[in-house]
Amino acid sequence: MTRETWLNRAIRLIEADYNRSSDTHLIRVPLPHCRGIELYLKDESSHPTGSLKHRLARSLFLYGLCNGWIGKDTTLIEASSGSTAVSEAYFAKLLDLPFIAVVPASTAEAKLEQIRFYGGQIHPVEDPGMVYAESERLAGETGGHYLDQFTYAERATDWRGNNNIAQSIFSQMSEEDHPDPAWIVCGAGTGGTSATLGRYIRYQRRPTQLCVADPAGSVFHRHYADRTVETLEGRCECRIEGIGRARVEPSFEPGVIDRMIAVQDADSIGAMFALSKTLGRKVGGSTGTNLFACLQLIEEMASAGQTGSIVTLLCDDGARYASTYYSEEWLAEWGGNWRPAYERMLEILE
Ligand SMILES: *Cc1c(COP(=O)(O)O)cnc(C)c1O
Repeated sequence: MTRETWLNRAIRLIEADYNRSSDTHLIRVPLPHCRGIELYLKDESSHPTGSLKHRLARSLFLYGLCNGWIGKDTTLIEASSGSTAVSEAYFAKLLDLPFIAVVPASTAEAKLEQIRFYGGQIHPVEDPGMVYAESERLAGETGGHYLDQFTYAERATDWRGNNNIAQSIFSQMSEEDHPDPAWIVCGAGTGGTSATLGRYIRYQRRPTQLCVADPAGSVFHRHYADRTVETLEGRCECRIEGIGRARVEPSFEPGVIDRMIAVQDADSIGAMFALSKTLGRKVGGSTGTNLFACLQLIEEMASAGQTGSIVTLLCDDGARYASTYYSEEWLAEWGGNWRPAYERMLEILE
């Protein structure tokens, strides 16, 4: 028998990690006032590294390994607002490779701690628009590999199946009252998740429609309405970590999306607090954005007398945002009026 090569071992370690993990839960959220409409949350916080970025990081590592871009001495670099870097640091540690996260200086401290926890180094930059160029520069300087989630998210993922998030949702829905959701709702950061969901829905010829919930300050919904809009004039003034961008990322595929809903930050935060109260555990801000878009769809379905199911994503846990959304000080400084959305959300949840 030949000795296992470094590459074979690296791939095996990632596959073994997958083998030891189980699928994430699909949680049913009761809507006591909406008969015939069911809401479900795909709980991506239950991955080993706590967010949907665990899937992306695994895909980016396998893609880089199989392409010959990652070898036994490769320094790995990523431009990340936090969650992707947390998951990538985990896989880098698994392979015993150095990892550097290029992050906006405003990133929540709890996320930085987690990147460091997995042995990653932090490289902060003041201007969030500079994270890409700085990552490329660092890759050149170290002779390393820039994982580049924004470019490769859509292509590194096996969108036809292989237990991707879409296939998992449809299989977990199979015994429900409405197994084909009327809507699946997600956000867009890289756009990778929406690309996987949208392509899979079409490939499987499902009747489900895909809705992307986008922060009001983000460019994605503007681009969706007018494809000539590629960037915002200034930066993305959105406060919801993980989603909303100032440039249309290469992995964002508008053609697979049936509808986009713009959500104000205050509505995202209000919905986040309401869901956290109902579930009895804290969720992250982008989950609130998703929930607020679901609220709009539920109200439309109810008033049209439609029945059906809606599936959305619980992207990550609120513990990551102890120093932001869940801090009284941060909320006071921000000054957004989240209470109206909170009350409206609780009316359908309780
Ligand atoms: C990345 C991210 C998203 C969006 O997912 P993409 O596949 O990158 O579009 C949503 N919420 C959180 C918390 C994220 O980290």
